[in-house]
Amino acid sequence: MSLINIHKVFKTYGSGHAATHALRGIDLSIEAGEFVALSGSSGSGKTTLLNLAAGFDFADSGSVVFLERELSSLTEKQRALFRRKHVGFVFQMLNLLPTMTALENIQIPMALNSFSRLDQKARGLGLLEIAGLSDRANSFPKELSGGEQQRVAALRAVAHSPDLILLDEPTSCLDTENAKVLLELLSNLNKEVGVTLIISTHDERIANLAQRRVILRDGKVAGDVSE
Ligand code: ADP
Ligand code: MG
Repeated sequence: MSLINIHKVFKTYGSGHAATHALRGIDLSIEAGEFVALSGSSGSGKTTLLNLAAGFDFADSGSVVFLERELSSLTEKQRALFRRKHVGFVFQMLNLLPTMTALENIQIPMALNSFSRLDQKARGLGLLEIAGLSDRANSFPKELSGGEQQRVAALRAVAHSPDLILLDEPTSCLDTENAKVLLELLSNLNKEVGVTLIISTHDERIANLAQRRVILRDGKVAGDVSE
């Protein structure tokens, strides 16, 4: 059984003359443990598709089944709880909380999932070490470089061991060196922890690292290639 099964999904924003057909019949299944790059030009529907996969938003028609649950059949509260447990999301805007340190930011999803304080801290420090950020544990986001913030955001997304991590153009504001570090971190997490990754990207380097590449064009799957 697939981790996530997207079937005949359509999504339109607005109506009449202002209608934008963001997704126009998407069929896509993602298996547990896959590392998928979602590529396609700006406006092709990448962010919309990630939002639907995470249950942040609904399709107009079609189905999104995640761990055997049809997301549209859940109430808003059930969806929020489901997402909290099963999904990690790195947004284009990182959304690190400015008043919390790197370690505290990473602890948030664990606190929400009832990890003990001790486990939160131990696991948070362990993740920071994997990412080469041990000496940054007590730094606030504004004291970190862009690349360091990206890595903290990625660590926060994996901290509670979700089944799926969605990253929306995570390297768009990174230089080559920082992008490489983030990619290696993600690739290692995929291999070692077995977490499923879907990364939307314009970046050829990311697309090449992934085992599978799904290309969107005008709201449709225009290519789906596994290595
Ligand atoms: P991508 O992430 O590939 O750049 P998006 O999923 O953000 O593409 O957008 C797909 C299309 O839907 C674009 O034409 C975009 O302008 C439109 N769109 C996205 N979000 C909204 C929204 N909230 N309201 C209206 N149109 C939107
Ligand atoms: Mg986008």
